[in-house]
Amino acid sequence: MLEKSTIRGDARSVGPTEKPVDWVNDLRRSRQNGPSLSAVHMGQGLSTRSIHAGTVQDGPTGAVGTPIYQASTFLLGEEQYRSFEEGYARDRFIYTRYGNPSQWAVQDKIAALENAQSALVFSSGMAAISSSLMSLLDPGGHVVTSDEIYGGTYALFSNEFPNMGLSVTHVNPRDLAAIEAAIKPETQVLFFEVLTNPLLKVIDIAGLVNIARRHGLRVVVDATFATPILVNPLDLGVDIVVHSATKYLNGHSDLVAGVAVGNRKLIDQVWGRMLAYGGCLDPHCCFLLERGLKTLALRMRAHSEGGMIIAQYLEAHPQVSQVYYPFLPSHPDHDLAKRQMRLGGGMVTFEVKGGDAAALHLLERLNLAVQATSLGGVESLISLPYNTSHSGFTRRQREQMGISAGMVRLSVGVEDPEDLIADFEQAFA
Ligand SMILES: *Cc1c(COP(=O)(O)O)cnc(C)c1O
Repeated sequence: MLEKSTIRGDARSVGPTEKPVDWVNDLRRSRQNGPSLSAVHMGQGLSTRSIHAGTVQDGPTGAVGTPIYQASTFLLGEEQYRSFEEGYARDRFIYTRYGNPSQWAVQDKIAALENAQSALVFSSGMAAISSSLMSLLDPGGHVVTSDEIYGGTYALFSNEFPNMGLSVTHVNPRDLAAIEAAIKPETQVLFFEVLTNPLLKVIDIAGLVNIARRHGLRVVVDATFATPILVNPLDLGVDIVVHSATKYLNGHSDLVAGVAVGNRKLIDQVWGRMLAYGGCLDPHCCFLLERGLKTLALRMRAHSEGGMIIAQYLEAHPQVSQVYYPFLPSHPDHDLAKRQMRLGGGMVTFEVKGGDAAALHLLERLNLAVQATSLGGVESLISLPYNTSHSGFTRRQREQMGISAGMVRLSVGVEDPEDLIADFEQAFA
């Protein structure tokens, strides 16, 4: 049985969003990271943190990994009742929607990777996005966001927000002046994806934070395509980072989950929304996610190495008219990408000569890359924006977005790049 939770006060650096106001630090709750059970020293490197941070040490058995705490509810005692009264229920185990050791373990690992005080896991990336945004928006609030955004988020903005009295303006994410010009008196949040889908535009995070600071706004970024291995947006002043953990964080295409990361105070607010909307993550799923995360740094290096090799191969191929990969010198955001990102990542978008029919034909001839939506798995996944993520738009709308006929989105897995190239060779032939 777990005896007590060890809350580390100083193990993690406090993000730049944390303002050093003295009286705030006198309140015990505001000083705490976590919630956390881990006594494991996490180390400095991203691989070391991927493996060790957050692991719950099970006293009675000495199990090396975090056990699966498959429990919906926990014994109530004096301490739990007091936590309700005094408002620190997030730091005690009461009921699994409120918190569970399996959730804490994986949250602690992700927080360590993001240099964050606190993280919160969800049953999907969309649950993380909706709970995070709702925690920062008041009735009548307005969000400035990208004109190239994940379909589920687009649907949240266009179908759900109007019913809640919220509004959104979509702008070109590369145009900081347009972002600033879209700000209204009722604007509260700037929401952008660190790398867009499918064109892999790179957002200037520091530039975005500067605008937000001038106007007193919050910045939320979706860093699903980048992961904490490529960039740590909180270090650049972002308030909340969200990920679809379904993708790279888990990395094995076998679960759906989400995460929100930030300072303790903001994530406590998001937790309140999560309790109300109900998108908590099941303990068994937490176990799988924690296991997947142990190889995150390792996988991202392999994805990035393969991504670059495949991008260069495709760029030289006579049947390919255009390749989008942030670390290719031909990418419009190449300089920013090199400055902002440690690695190029595993997403490669390209255009096949001959339009959508030729692209579909190519996909059908491939033996290795699996024709499926989603991304970030160890297996290469390939899809066409026109009949998957962007099928809801007309051809004309897609072309206005820069999604031309014949566009293919490839999530490069961790297979041997030579094998992937050989497969493309036979498919093109
Ligand atoms: C997949 C995805 C989401 C949604 O995540 P789910 O886990 O499917 O809910 C959000 N943003 C981006 C960029 C994604 O790729």
